[in-house]
Amino acid sequence: MSLLVIGSVAFDAIDTPFGSTGKIVGGAASFISLATSLLHNQVGLVAVVGDDFDFDFIKLLNDRGVDTTGLQVKKGEKSFFWHGKYHMDMNSRDTLVTELNVLGDFDPIVPQNWKNPEFVMLGNLSPQVQLTTLDRLESKPKLVVMDTMNFWMDIALDELKTVLKKVDVLTINDEEARQLSGEYSLVKAARVIRAMGPHTLIIKKGEHGALLFGNEGQVFFCPALPLEEVFDPTGAGDTFAGGFIGYLASVGRTDFEAMKTAVIYGSAMASCCVEQFGTTKIASMTKADLAERLNQFRSMMGYELEA
Ligand code: AMP
Repeated sequence: MSLLVIGSVAFDAIDTPFGSTGKIVGGAASFISLATSLLHNQVGLVAVVGDDFDFDFIKLLNDRGVDTTGLQVKKGEKSFFWHGKYHMDMNSRDTLVTELNVLGDFDPIVPQNWKNPEFVMLGNLSPQVQLTTLDRLESKPKLVVMDTMNFWMDIALDELKTVLKKVDVLTINDEEARQLSGEYSLVKAARVIRAMGPHTLIIKKGEHGALLFGNEGQVFFCPALPLEEVFDPTGAGDTFAGGFIGYLASVGRTDFEAMKTAVIYGSAMASCCVEQFGTTKIASMTKADLAERLNQFRSMMGYELEA
């Protein structure tokens, strides 16, 4: 089933306690597209870059079957740039620089053959652009998943709340869930956020796993794989979202049981992403790597509680 992805395609610079990168390819939709393309072969990308971008990366997406006809290249303009610095715990980070550049006035043009997608992933981007993209579709998708971040809550909360009314699933981290809901308890936060629109909510807790809150009060918890080395958590959330929706699109399902499996796929792929800087590891992940990670999840989670 067709899966449309929008989000930032960007340059990042990352500082961690263990090292720094120069400018590398990043962006929410970059990680999402790489993750979805491992699971599914009908993926289309709507995004914008400047002509300073690394076009080998776009070729890599094409080689993996991602249709990039919806990617605009702005002549003489600069790509979105984000610079983040992680704290010693590698779970929390500060944004040092956000230069919107081409994202500042991005008008998302959805190619005609992508106007009726069954699945839509609204990756991290201005809520106004997320909304415009949905408005430009010709039919209601089977499932719309959205990701966002505190940056947009700070500067565009009203627009964010408008998009939320149109999405089925929201994925955010615990800090953002608390900010958006004004509640410390994640259970209360989930109730408040689900009342804003999305019937299903995923709260990501970094190395502490992810919580899935369903539309009939169901709750599912998926741990994160304990890892010896975490190099760079950037893009873990996007990779998670890509794995989540990529799995659902590949099986064509949107029920809670399928979403539980999708959360495990997302977590398995995110665990791979963080083991190297930027998109490096997720770009080289194979189906065999994924199968091995899924087995690790199976043995980690397969405990039968005796009555
Ligand atoms: P994550 O680590 O999953 O939260 O995503 C990190 C990615 O989000 C980076 O590659 C950034 O390029 C991208 N990003 C950071 N800030 C923004 C923003 N305000 N809008 C869109 N993308 C962003």
